Amino acid sequence: MTPATFNVPSTVIIGGGASWELPAQIERLGARHALIVTDPFFVQNGLADQFIAWLGQHAIAASLFCEVQPDPTDLNVRAGLRAYRESNADCVVGLGGGSAIDAAKAIAMLAANPEPLRQYMGYHKVPRPGAPMVAIPTTAGTGSEVTRVAVITDTEHHEKMMLLSAHLMPAVALVDYELSMSMPKSLTAHVGVDTLTHGIEAYVSRKANGLTDPIALSCVALTATHLLNAWREPDNRKAREAMALAACQGGMAFSNSSVCLVHGMSRPLGALYHVPHGLSNAVLLPTVTRFSLPGTVERYATISRIMGFARAGDDNETAVHKLADGLEALNEALEIPPLRECVRVGRAKFERSLEKMAADALASGSPQNNPVVPTAEQIIELYKQAW
Ligand code: NAD
Repeated sequence: MTPATFNVPSTVIIGGGASWELPAQIERLGARHALIVTDPFFVQNGLADQFIAWLGQHAIAASLFCEVQPDPTDLNVRAGLRAYRESNADCVVGLGGGSAIDAAKAIAMLAANPEPLRQYMGYHKVPRPGAPMVAIPTTAGTGSEVTRVAVITDTEHHEKMMLLSAHLMPAVALVDYELSMSMPKSLTAHVGVDTLTHGIEAYVSRKANGLTDPIALSCVALTATHLLNAWREPDNRKAREAMALAACQGGMAFSNSSVCLVHGMSRPLGALYHVPHGLSNAVLLPTVTRFSLPGTVERYATISRIMGFARAGDDNETAVHKLADGLEALNEALEIPPLRECVRVGRAKFERSLEKMAADALASGSPQNNPVVPTAEQIIELYKQAW
């Protein structure tokens, strides 16, 4: 086995109220002027202004860039970089879900590395550290606050670019579950299954290692226990807190192991059909799991037991089949619609895009980490099965 690298932010503060540590952490980073990168929701609900006022009370200047769209684009990043330069900021704060945090990562990185962004697509291509960055997640889902990954849509090629580099890792993550309490039910479901997918894929990945395994399994266990409660009872603080922890663990696990085929196939659904990231993972997870089971029966069986789908006396074969069925039942319980209801185009048009989607999935590198490495034809068949 080749040696494994484990990167996480140098500081992670987790728990209710953690986000109010922002001024102290910016001071610790030696910065004086933060560019807050967020999406319009956090301007409307007043949270961005609360942080700007809180920073002001600590004599830290703040500017706002709030034009991040879901599944952020290269154009969002370019506009944010302009805002960073024009404001003379010296650090970046990503406030929001994975979209705002990923945009913030790319802006901070480009502050010290030349454009275009596309040249950094793939693995370890960023030459220099960027501006210091603090991540404050508001969805308990992507785990982007602790990953060395940014996913940005290339608007010219209609492709979600996956960039992985230690230079994209936030310096600080402030994981405050209280910020996730406002999530509506559908968002809770989508980002929750995203978290589960991170835990599962990190554990079955060909790059799984002794540091990521226990974190991935803890992510799966927490999600199995708390996701439905967070979805049914949005004010359930215990469930929200547990899901914020699960999301953070999922991010740590997959960023240092990898995601696999679900994510590889999910990104083209976001790029071409604007299916939200968590939802596109959720609709693919049962089908792709069924396909991948033969690659690592023992690991999938462990997941099935941890999730409570398999009973103690079940052999591995029985356990893995219960896992695929259980994931389907979980989607149903969370009212996740089938793929055909997510893409909003007819089957014929969808099928015409399958070759490009399979090629883009393979080009991302993620399917090559899957327990069963698929061909383009198999990926096309899996999209059809999930339809
Ligand atoms: P998101 O950031 O796209 O947000 C979706 C919507 O939810 C937005 O309209 C946002 O305003 C709203 N929202 C966010 N928090 C809310 C809250 N607390 N209350 C109410 N509304 C809220 O959603 P996401 O699923 O967190 O992020 C998806 C993006 O993250 C995708 O682009 C995906 O590719 C990327 N991603 C990145 C990584 C990584 O490691 N970098 C990992 C997984 C996914």
